[in-house]
Amino acid sequence: MTNNSPLPCDVLIIGGGPAGSTAAITLARQGLDVVIIEKEQHPRFHIGESLLACNIPILKELGVLDDVAAIGVYKPGAEFVTDTGEGRMSFPFRYAIDAQADHAFQVRRAEFDEILFRHAAKAGATTLEKTRVTKVSFTSTATLLIEARTETGEMRLFAPRFLLDASGRDTLMLRQHGQKYSDLRNNKAAIFSHFRNVPRAEGEGMEGYISVHLVQGGWFWMIPLPDDVMSVGFVGDHESFKHHGGSLDALFWKHVQASPSVQARMAKAEALAPLSTTGNYSYKGDKAWGERYFIIGDAFGFLDPVFSSGVMLAMKGALRGAHVASQWLLSPQWGRKAARKAERQTRQEMQLISWLVYRINDPLLRYFFIRPKNKPLRMRDAIIALLAGNFAPSWRVMIPFRAFTVIFGLAKRFKHS
Ligand code: FAD
Repeated sequence: MTNNSPLPCDVLIIGGGPAGSTAAITLARQGLDVVIIEKEQHPRFHIGESLLACNIPILKELGVLDDVAAIGVYKPGAEFVTDTGEGRMSFPFRYAIDAQADHAFQVRRAEFDEILFRHAAKAGATTLEKTRVTKVSFTSTATLLIEARTETGEMRLFAPRFLLDASGRDTLMLRQHGQKYSDLRNNKAAIFSHFRNVPRAEGEGMEGYISVHLVQGGWFWMIPLPDDVMSVGFVGDHESFKHHGGSLDALFWKHVQASPSVQARMAKAEALAPLSTTGNYSYKGDKAWGERYFIIGDAFGFLDPVFSSGVMLAMKGALRGAHVASQWLLSPQWGRKAARKAERQTRQEMQLISWLVYRINDPLLRYFFIRPKNKPLRMRDAIIALLAGNFAPSWRVMIPFRAFTVIFGLAKRFKHS
């Protein structure tokens, strides 16, 4: 084959993040000819370091659980902290309804993503790095043609039978063949870095907990990583970031200083790298699939990371995407049916999480969220299930909570009218 004759394969995957690698491992294990293309070279930095308990069975199934445990900090749960009356509330995963595991891990994504990507190669996928997919064409002969360029500018062509887009927030297929809708009610941005000398969550057995500090104008994450490093980030309104005249450092430290609970923990913090920022969220696509392609992970939609749900949603979506691909290769009719179902499930999960994101951003509803009573509605267990990444039972059990917040919202509106 010359570099200009398209290389045929069963499934081509764009992007070697958690979604792409999960799909690649799954499909390669089925004996399919899989090519996964990553524009960067692993290990590469990525934000999003706190996993959920429901990641554990997936990691186990993929055969990488021990490798991930070796690079991670054991995470038994999540705590929410406020500067107002509610104080601190911890949610141990062991109480989650239908818990699939009683813990998760917090990882440096450079290491985590590399484990998954290399595992895809071990499973039999062809892995290409430093190669960017630039164009996806649906040719008149009803075949897919994928153009990619290596770092040195060399053009590579591929003719897969099916395509999975896992290009993350680059949203390649939505940009080239679809529509991306921003969630204007939740238009947020983040500033973050890694720090030393930030104390971990207080209390026995709490040192592995993620802390989510709900503060004026947004929220902070504090994610303990190995080597006494703490990942700290602030998420706030994109507009307020844009209109802040000063430096990124000034903006970050202004928010630290505004919250007594965050300020106390950051008093001796020493940044290990310059602060970074990311904006442009939240969004979702108009459609997750079309003839011979399916979109997975952040390439389809992205939500405020307050519940640390991104990696788990990406991996679950990837398992569904892999199923769609293998069904499509057997029969396009089965593939379409699988794609419709997979899109519906993904949308339902995203809808539940964004509904909760709105609630947790409301100072009054937040109170009920972080101080849930367990009796008689099992609301606390439901919230823990959600924080563990288990959406199905929490959805059922959350119905009373939903009903309550609707009534509460109406009462508020009535009061203000
Ligand atoms: P990605 O991980 O982004 O992977 C996409 C890959 O595709 C990248 O490696 C990219 O280089 C590659 N790529 C893109 N375009 C091309 C192209 N044209 N050709 C080839 N390769 C390409 N999630 C959590 O679970 N826990 C958290 O604590 C958390 N915190 C977060 C905090 C912030 C501020 C943000 C922004 C996100 C956070 N997330 C978190 C979300 C999480 O990072 C993502 O949901 C997750 O990485 C999605 O995985 P993915 O594989 O879909 O995309």
